Amino acid sequence: MRNISKVLVLHILMLGFLFAQHGSTTDGVSWQDAIVKLKEGNSRFITSSPSEKHYLKDVETTAGGQHPYAIVLTCSDSRVPPEILFDESIGRLFIIRVAGNIVTPELLGSIEYAAEHLGSQLLVVLGHTKCGAVNAAIAGGEAPPNIASILKHIQPSINLAKSEKIDAEHFTDFVIHRNVLYQIKAAMQESDVLKELAHKGTFHISGALYNVSNGEVSFMPEEQTTPTHGEEKPHSETKPHSETTPKEEHK
Ligand SMILES: [Zn+2]
Repeated sequence: MRNISKVLVLHILMLGFLFAQHGSTTDGVSWQDAIVKLKEGNSRFITSSPSEKHYLKDVETTAGGQHPYAIVLTCSDSRVPPEILFDESIGRLFIIRVAGNIVTPELLGSIEYAAEHLGSQLLVVLGHTKCGAVNAAIAGGEAPPNIASILKHIQPSINLAKSEKIDAEHFTDFVIHRNVLYQIKAAMQESDVLKELAHKGTFHISGALYNVSNGEVSFMPEEQTTPTHGEEKPHSETKPHSETTPKEEHK
């Protein structure tokens, strides 16, 4: 009996190995499994034990179509390359990068495309320490119009930090953290497509922070991102320290 179990386990392991070797389809990966895969990938990255990569083989495997198992919205900062820090290859992550990892209609459209047409069930909004966009927004002053149009999306989190009287030492980190939560709310609030998928249980948004000093990605507790399910909107918050709504900012 014990031998049969061993044989079965061996077969399962071999199947898993073969599947991985062939790039596998990632279509249908649940958002819960996607989070596990990303965490495992980052763990390999920070322990310098990356998986073996076969980029050209992956090019071949994915030429006919893509089934990325996760969408990552993150900053353009050159220190935050998602495929590397999640130890991933071609065709696995649908990545959207913009300074300050903000949500705008164009970026939201990209997210909707991946969620609705490519079957990605997870969006990770990934902020990072020492974010230049957040620092620029905090510094204030006059910015050229195109940069200003980015910074205005970070302003609500700065307003929140001020209203909560966050001290100077923790101010930037607070804004970086709250900006991730704010963009998650904005994404869900402004997208009927994402709301519907989330309602069906086939879409979820998680927040995470990348530490540029040690390579580690920390996922935020799920209870912090519950508004991603659409039941709570920024403009409907009645708590004393509620943030400015994305809609107000877009005026
Ligand atoms: Zn940044």
